[in-house]
Amino acid sequence: MTRKFTGDRLVIATHNRGKLVEFQTLLAPLDITCLSAGELGLAEPEETETTFIGNCRIKAHAAARASGLPALADDSGLTVDALDGAPGVHTADWAATPQGRDFGMAMAKTWALLEEKAAPMPRHAQFRCTLVLAWPDGHDEQVEGDCAGQLVWPRRGAEGHGYDPMFQPDGFAQTFGEMPAGQKNAISHRARAVAKMLAKCFT
Ligand code: IMP
Repeated sequence: MTRKFTGDRLVIATHNRGKLVEFQTLLAPLDITCLSAGELGLAEPEETETTFIGNCRIKAHAAARASGLPALADDSGLTVDALDGAPGVHTADWAATPQGRDFGMAMAKTWALLEEKAAPMPRHAQFRCTLVLAWPDGHDEQVEGDCAGQLVWPRRGAEGHGYDPMFQPDGFAQTFGEMPAGQKNAISHRARAVAKMLAKCFT
């Protein structure tokens, strides 16, 4: 049976500031306190699974166990049709440098691979988001959301985070990087997954 969230404090199991801000906005209608794994000083577990859901469960359960509170984790990424679904669970890894994450480099790499393959236009891709709400006793609830679009180059806009400047959602002329946060939050993979989670566990 689906378990409902009944407390007043929820841990957001992320150390990514961009994601945290999006979650706080999306969860604002709920009268609960959101604490981030970062501010609680929780360790960032290693994401050793090969699927979004597998890695999401690792993060949610680690945060719930360590904090003693229900924890909501997100695992998300970009899947590019002409790259057989890459970067997928490696979306963040493609931005890794010894100095930290460089998403300009990751976006350039993604486009270069598409050029190498002479992939036809439009270059279809999806942002995908899996959410797991885990409780300290080991129970969890899971949902998924996605947002389809095309990759564009040169990249456009400085809003958002990650690969936003090269992702133009279907039905829009702007990239996520050009959209005000409110507009992205109305249609994003994360917004859709959060809406499903709210309907499933918070009503
Ligand atoms: P995760 O932290 O393992 O879930 O990594 C997901 C990665 O996917 C992030 O670091 C971003 O690079 C990318 N990503 C996920 N959601 C978005 C988004 O809404 N916009 C841009 N990039 C995203």
